[in-house]
Amino acid sequence: MNSQKIMSEIEETINQCTKCPLHETRANTVPGEGNIHSPVVFVGEGPGADEDAAGRPFVGRAGKLFEEILKAVSFSREDVFITNVVKCRPPNNRNPMPDEMMSCAPFLFSQLQVINPILIVTLGAVPLSFLLEKKTVRITSMRGNLIEYKDGVMIFPMFHPSYLLRNPSKTKGSPKYLTWQDIKEVKRIYDEHRK
Ligand code: SF4
Repeated sequence: MNSQKIMSEIEETINQCTKCPLHETRANTVPGEGNIHSPVVFVGEGPGADEDAAGRPFVGRAGKLFEEILKAVSFSREDVFITNVVKCRPPNNRNPMPDEMMSCAPFLFSQLQVINPILIVTLGAVPLSFLLEKKTVRITSMRGNLIEYKDGVMIFPMFHPSYLLRNPSKTKGSPKYLTWQDIKEVKRIYDEHRK
């Protein structure tokens, strides 16, 4: 079976999923989208209200900023694959609970298996702590560093775009300034491993 077909089947399974309580309040599932041949996969924590309404990841205000960040290094969202740890919106934009992430994780891992990226870019602390299986992570000190994950795959933590919306300064050392450095590094790795 080809990769696109397997991905469509994963998506279909997500659309039918009732494995955790988040299915009760979702309008739409948000499986993720983009280039399944990308060497880079971006992983956020979960859909927000706009994403839940659209059934697509990163389409709200934070999503628009995320697109601008990508554009700044001549990336488009179609170049990469974008998804979240949980595929249904946690109510009131709360963080996903550990058991919800555990229930949903097989979908993310299946997607990663199909895409087989060289780099997983985690957006914010939640996907980083989940993938590293650490209760707490310090995104401010860990961002911008390559972390060995498994099977030759690296994790590269970045700030979540919603954090950047709350911290708009672009002065040297600010989260936005550091994100600019980080996305340049992501693009460099992408170009080196483009399939
Ligand atoms: S969040 Fe994941 S596990 Fe929970 S219902 Fe949605 S798709 Fe299923």
